[in-house]
This record gives sequence, structure tokens and C-alpha cells, in this order.
Amino acid sequence: MTGMLSETTLAIRGGRVVCPGTGIDEITDVYVRGGAIVAVGLESPPAVEAVIDASGMVVCPGLVDVHVHLREPGGEHKETIETGTRAAVRGGFTWVGAMPNTTPAPDCAETVADIRGRVRHSAWCRVGVIGAATVGNDRATLSDFAALADAGCVAISDDAFMLRTREQRREALLRCAELGLVFIAHAEDEELSAGGVMHEGEVSRALGVAGQHPETELRALEAWRDAWDEPGRPPLHIAHLSTAAGAAFLRDWPDGPSAETAPHYLALTDRAVAEHGANARMNPPLRTEEDRQALINALRDGTIGIIATDHAPHAPEEKARGLAEAPFGIVGLETALSVVLAELVEPGLLSLPEALRTLTAAPAALMGLRLGRIDVEAPADLLIFDPAARWTVEPERFESMGRNTPFAGCELPGVVEAVLVAGATVYGDGRFAPDRPPVDLSTRP
Ligand SMILES: [Zn+2]
Repeated sequence: MTGMLSETTLAIRGGRVVCPGTGIDEITDVYVRGGAIVAVGLESPPAVEAVIDASGMVVCPGLVDVHVHLREPGGEHKETIETGTRAAVRGGFTWVGAMPNTTPAPDCAETVADIRGRVRHSAWCRVGVIGAATVGNDRATLSDFAALADAGCVAISDDAFMLRTREQRREALLRCAELGLVFIAHAEDEELSAGGVMHEGEVSRALGVAGQHPETELRALEAWRDAWDEPGRPPLHIAHLSTAAGAAFLRDWPDGPSAETAPHYLALTDRAVAEHGANARMNPPLRTEEDRQALINALRDGTIGIIATDHAPHAPEEKARGLAEAPFGIVGLETALSVVLAELVEPGLLSLPEALRTLTAAPAALMGLRLGRIDVEAPADLLIFDPAARWTVEPERFESMGRNTPFAGCELPGVVEAVLVAGATVYGDGRFAPDRPPVDLSTRP
């Protein structure tokens, strides 16, 4: 079930095929040949040479994550492109967008080419390079967006380093509009968040640590709206939305940006910081129960269309510095699907197709990918998972080098059984294939 770009036909039989992009939700078969989907349905094409029995399983498009920190280059003690993309595959993802806070940053054609070369050399799933909005993430000089687009960047972002002035934000959006790129915005008013290691509230006061003002996200969103005075929708996507106020603001912004939230904001509140310390410290921070409920409602009404992990691995010794000193971020690729199933699908808040849309068709559309669909001629990037089977989160068994998760020890639904990238089974039968997928994983599918 592994290896070369196969000219034999593979049948995936008897699974519940769920494809929110095409509306399919039925028990049927999917046929794969030459890296693409060649047929969907019970009518078998001739010459099937290999079969995956998917009965009892869900067969859906490979998951697409628009917000991942792969750390390479410069942070290889935290994660590498190889380990990060293996973690992605293990979690059911076949495409990840790599955030630009690396050293060096992808702020020019040379660095983008270098990162794409590393992806070709060591990645296990497809990787889109997201260009850095400012040179060296210095927040002073906007990078050459046109050069980044030419070099193959799929988007531009100021993640972790919100652009400081209205003029910069306006110019960034105008350049993206001209180039047909999306700008992924980090919404944090740093005057309000300065020094805060978690959400400011009862829990931060009880723990005796500095909190971030609850309005930091809202003020930043106001600043982004203020930066767009052109007609129509801004080429803007809001990263890691975390507050009720932020969700309400986006709901009331006619022709506003798209937005993502992360599984941890849907599953946890600031109370988790008291229990998990630095492994529940991320930016933006876990908020209150009211915020958590508001984010779920925003997913239900479409105000938030995308779930992205903000996978942010750190070395154990970095997280061991304690809540006040540890760096922000948690890993997420290997738990995202299961947390979404546990928090949204099992309680009936979203149907399975609705939940999968936020992880497949919606992020693929944002990035302009031909992925996220089970359709004839689409790339055969597929996920097969057992929705009923449960597993216990053991961080020491992660493919990621990061162990920093607040979900350690949780028993969660949803076991990834097989992952296909460009028709090649890169993971199946509980192990990785010996070879990486035989396609250029750095090009936009
Ligand atoms: Zn991030």
C-alpha cells in the first residue's frame, strides 16, 4: 500500500464517504489512480489491483490546517519539517500552512526557495509556505509581497507580530488584494496584552500571574477594520479567534474577513491553566466559559468557518520554566480531529459534515487549493478514520517533537486509520510507509 506514484487502481470500499465540499455523505467507494481520485460510487472501474476495506470508517478529504509552526529553519530543537509533517499525517492532515516566524523568516524569494527545498527533501505531507509580512519579522519594513507570491507563498501573515500602524495594515491589505493573496492577521492589541501570560480574570488573580486584558482581541479587530476603506471584502483572514467579543464583532462586520479558531479554545477555559500550567499557556490565551460557548455558536452560524490548530511545539526544557516564563503555544496536530469530534460532534453541536467542513473544504478554499474535495480528478489526499474508536493521548508517543499539550491523559474519540497523499498511503495499518509521497510537496495543489 505504499511507494511510487501508482498506476494501479486502489479501491477504498464500504466507508462512510463524507465530503462537505461536494455534499457527499453516504456509504460508497472511492477509486484512486495515478495520484488522483478517478471515480466515486459503487460502480467499480476496471482493473482494481488493491483494496482498502473502510467499512465502519469515515472516508473524508485529508485535513487542511492553515496555521502550523514547523519551526524549521532556526528552531529545530522544537520541531523540524519532517517531524511536524509526520505529526500532521498522524493527525489526518495532508496539507499544512507553515507560519513565518522562523529564523530566517520567509521574507524574500531566497528564503522561501530554501524552505520549499527543505519541504521537498523531508516533508511527509504538503506544505504551503506563508510569507512574513515584515522583513525578519521586525514589524518595521513590509516585505516584498509580490516577490513572495512569485516565490510560491500561499499567503502572507504577521502571526505573533501584529503590524503596528494603520498605514502598514492598510498597505498590506492593498498589496494582498492586488496580488490575490490572503493576509492572515494576528489580532492582539499589545498595549492591552503586554506582560500577560494568560487571560486576565479570576484564575489569573488566584494564580498570582499577570493577565491579558480581555479586550485585546476586540481592539485589534477594530484596528484591522479601520485599515480597510476600500469597497468589498478585505483579503483578510483572522487567526486564532478566542473571544466572545471578537466573534460578535466579526458577525457585525458586513462583508468582513474569514476567521479561524483552534480546538483548544473550543474545549478548554482559563481554568485549565490552573491544572496544566505552561502546557495550557498560549497566545491568545484560553478564555472563559462564556467565550468558549460564543466560539461554538460562531462556528454554528458560520461567523467562524475554519478550525486551525496553531500547532506550536516547544522543547520540554522551555515549557519546564514554569507558567510565567515558558514560551506561548501548544501542539495540536495529533489531537485536533479527536478534540473536534469530542467537543462538537459527539454532543451534537455540529454534524460530522459540518465539523469536517471547517477542517477540509473551508480552509482549502481560503488557500485556493484543489484539496478538501472527494471529486473525480481531484488530488487523492484522503483520510480514513474510525469515528467510534477511542484512544488515550500519550504525548511521549507523538510524532511531533513537542510534548506540550493540555490534553495529555484524555481519552478521545476518532482514530486515524490511513492517510493518503497524492494517492500514496503514507500512513496505514498503524505505521508510516517506508517512503515519503512521490510528488513535490512544496507546490500548491
Ligand atoms: Zn500561530
